[in-house]
Amino acid sequence: MITQEEINALRHKVIAPQKMLIDGQWVDASDGGTVDVVSPIDGKKLTTLAAATVEDVDRAVLAARKVFERGDWSRMAPQGRMKIMHKIADLIADNAKEMAVLGARDNGTEIGMAIKAEPGSAAGTFRFYAEAIDKVYGEIAPTADNQLALIHREPVGVVGAIVPWNFPMMIGAWKIAPALAAGNSVVLKPSEAASLNLLRLAEICQEAGLPDGVLNVITGSGSMAGEAMGLHHDIDIIGFTGSGGVGRRLMDYAARSNMKRLYLELGGKSPNIIFADAADLDHAAKVSAAGIFRNSGEVCVAGSRILVERTIHDAFVEKLRAETAKYKVGDPLDLGNNIGAITTAQQLEGDLAFVERAQKEGGTLVTGGKQLNAGQGYYMEPTIFTDIKPNMDLFQNEVFGPVVSVTPFDTEEEAVALANGTDFGLAAGVWTSNLSRAHRMVRNIKSGVVHVNTYGGAGNNVPLAGMKQSGNGADKSLHAIEKYENLKTAWIQL
Ligand code: NAD
Repeated sequence: MITQEEINALRHKVIAPQKMLIDGQWVDASDGGTVDVVSPIDGKKLTTLAAATVEDVDRAVLAARKVFERGDWSRMAPQGRMKIMHKIADLIADNAKEMAVLGARDNGTEIGMAIKAEPGSAAGTFRFYAEAIDKVYGEIAPTADNQLALIHREPVGVVGAIVPWNFPMMIGAWKIAPALAAGNSVVLKPSEAASLNLLRLAEICQEAGLPDGVLNVITGSGSMAGEAMGLHHDIDIIGFTGSGGVGRRLMDYAARSNMKRLYLELGGKSPNIIFADAADLDHAAKVSAAGIFRNSGEVCVAGSRILVERTIHDAFVEKLRAETAKYKVGDPLDLGNNIGAITTAQQLEGDLAFVERAQKEGGTLVTGGKQLNAGQGYYMEPTIFTDIKPNMDLFQNEVFGPVVSVTPFDTEEEAVALANGTDFGLAAGVWTSNLSRAHRMVRNIKSGVVHVNTYGGAGNNVPLAGMKQSGNGADKSLHAIEKYENLKTAWIQL
């Protein structure tokens, strides 16, 4: 927990112009270029980031490669690596309050959520993968008596991690920690809209004793620094979280360069399905509102399409509206608010454009739909639409903002068809007291996670893995380590 006094003591701290970390040195961009960091709390400039050039990306990749081949980290004894990763987790926990406030100033996440989901979660992730280092090992395959087949797990080399502006520490840790646990070097590129906490995390990694060059952080625009990583011939893997549009570009970059391995964690349009036999519709409405409106809907797994059995449609919409009215939107650093700011002016504009299109297409606006506190930061009312049909924009496309659509269904089969009726497959929710139906729905919905009688539960030991155009691979769990390893067979004649 953090108190209002603690927040107030940290919220106006001056933030120096930021440098990047390359080969253990904090450096400016090679051409001196910078990008402004604007706080969504008030729309004012907080500081600047270094705008990495292609040459800076090259230097970072070279540093990562050199240290990998030298073995400072890749060949360090497992216990040594574990100790450093545990130390990183300890230092994140020690600095959690300062990092949560810094992150909220940078991307607008409400402080109560920021403290748990950012430093809290990142520390847990580093601990989880630290512990895995000496517990995940190779295999011996059954062979004829005069043969021995050993299956080694080896680090791949240089991992590029490109991450978005929502939950940058949490998602950054989901990439960095398993990649490091496997013995790789990393070049991290945070979003230009939320880099501050990941730069702070890099400082912590240095302080914990991570050898120089093992973690490098490149900042600046996606179109320059991100593209240079995508096209780089000496990055072996890119672990990416972000939009489908950029995911597609990365596939093209990989094809045009070294066919690097890509893991893409992309967007969602997740269905949250309410059957009339749900045990507690009041609870379902409360959790469903949280499932879309927390963090202003800037959550990849947000339950942005509520599908409701027609017999309870009107009653459920009323409950949802009542729950939504309880949210207080405003300054993310005021403990009295439970929804903070939209991260960028551009994102807010996009969210409002979705509202306009939904109205034009015949959707009914139940509540919300407007910008709040115009001219003083980027805030938006939580918004509910009914009468949203499968062919409409709001049903098909990710808003990544505080906008939910409600669509009725009559049968379980229709609910499944509607649930699966988009290009996405990230998350889903099902509310029912019928156990058989719950299992059938889990089986029939095409998404990486299906929540039953809840929405949004997660843990470090379970994977988050998209299906369809929500991506591939899995963040979190022991499976994530496999992404950053090569399997090598030693076939030995005895
Ligand atoms: P984005 O795709 O715009 O940016 C993500 C990252 O890619 C940023 O670091 C950006 O600088 C970089 N980038 C931009 N253009 C690039 C290019 N041409 N080449 C290489 N890199 C480039 O996404 P965003 O707006 O930061 O984040 C929101 C999106 O992320 C949403 O679609 C959301 O659903 C998705 N997301 C998915 C998950 C998941 O686990 N599946 C989690 C969080 C967010």
